[in-house]
Amino acid sequence: MHIDPSARFATRAIHAGQSPDPATGAICTPIYQTSTFVQASPGKIIGEYDYSRAANPTRTALEANLASLEGGRHGLAFSSGVAATGAVIHLLKAGDHVLLCDDVYGGTNRIFHRVFQQLGIEITLVDMTDHDATRAAMRPETKLVWIETPTNPMLKIVDIAVLAEIAKSAGAMVAVDNTFASPYLQNPLRLGTDIVCHSMTKYLGGHSDAIGGALIVNDDDIHKRLKFIQLSEGAVPGIQECFLFLRSTKTLHVRMDRHCENAAKVARFLEAHKKVEKVLYPGLESHPQHAIARKQMRGFGGMITIYLKGGLAESRAMLETVRIFALAESLGGVESLIEHPAIMTHASVPADQRAKLGIADNLVRLSVGIEDVDDLIADLERAIG
Ligand SMILES: *Cc1c(COP(=O)(O)O)cnc(C)c1O
Repeated sequence: MHIDPSARFATRAIHAGQSPDPATGAICTPIYQTSTFVQASPGKIIGEYDYSRAANPTRTALEANLASLEGGRHGLAFSSGVAATGAVIHLLKAGDHVLLCDDVYGGTNRIFHRVFQQLGIEITLVDMTDHDATRAAMRPETKLVWIETPTNPMLKIVDIAVLAEIAKSAGAMVAVDNTFASPYLQNPLRLGTDIVCHSMTKYLGGHSDAIGGALIVNDDDIHKRLKFIQLSEGAVPGIQECFLFLRSTKTLHVRMDRHCENAAKVARFLEAHKKVEKVLYPGLESHPQHAIARKQMRGFGGMITIYLKGGLAESRAMLETVRIFALAESLGGVESLIEHPAIMTHASVPADQRAKLGIADNLVRLSVGIEDVDDLIADLERAIG
């Protein structure tokens, strides 16, 4: 079965990259749990495969599915989101300069600064909602602009099209970490960028049961270079994980609709609550980049960050009182999670940078799941007191 690339999202989510197994008619792509493939004669492979680090049919189906969801030509699957990030950075060489969004995922900050900086990659952190500051930070050696939007945990929205233009006019590649939005809500390749990166662990997987990463690109040359890095470094996902992600993307649109609907209701409840100082959610009119979110996203996602009135004591009380929201790192699964960025997800970000970004003791991050929203609101009501 060949899915027309012009088919709508839900149809592509379920069918792209997959066709019934020719041998048995199985509607689901089998788990080709094999490391190697028998050859007809030396060097003459039977089908398209010789060794599963290079390629495996289950992974190929997943990679084609991911490419279709982002509206890109090529998909590449990795063993984790940070492995996918590392592959992009390996396109660079010593002396190259990177412009990095100031409020990126903690692990992204860590791999840039603590793994690649010592190999000679130069990095400048910049608030990418400030376009003048971004333009001013570009250098002749800037080869990569790394965007994350919505950002984590401040949920700032970066104008992808404007950033793509700033980078392009300086000859730099642009990569967007699209994990928080998922391909259902935002497609950066269509806004002029070169590489989309995902932690599949989050919304693409959606069930908190597998770790994986992905890159999606249009350009054949960038794809060839990244595929070479994927093969050479070997950070590929296991075959069972590929099957799990392939199953999960079939319901991405349904899950995301409910994440968005629930989060919007929770955000409005929290915004009206007297013990909440401030709510950061791109779907609220009070969000500083609400207009940009409207322009580049189809919905506002399931992530909410709040400032409680008070300090660490109030945050702790809330985190220890919730019953449905689980106290855990990560996000994007069907179950609601709550966490304290300063102590948990962003502990690896240096304290001065945390302070500059606003990651304070009264900051709490919610990943709103797809449980009944009235139960979620009741849980928060009881916990905030
Ligand atoms: C989790 C996450 C990553 C890293 O992904 P892993 O699968 O945990 O390696 C990267 N970017 C964002 C925005 C994330 O939330």
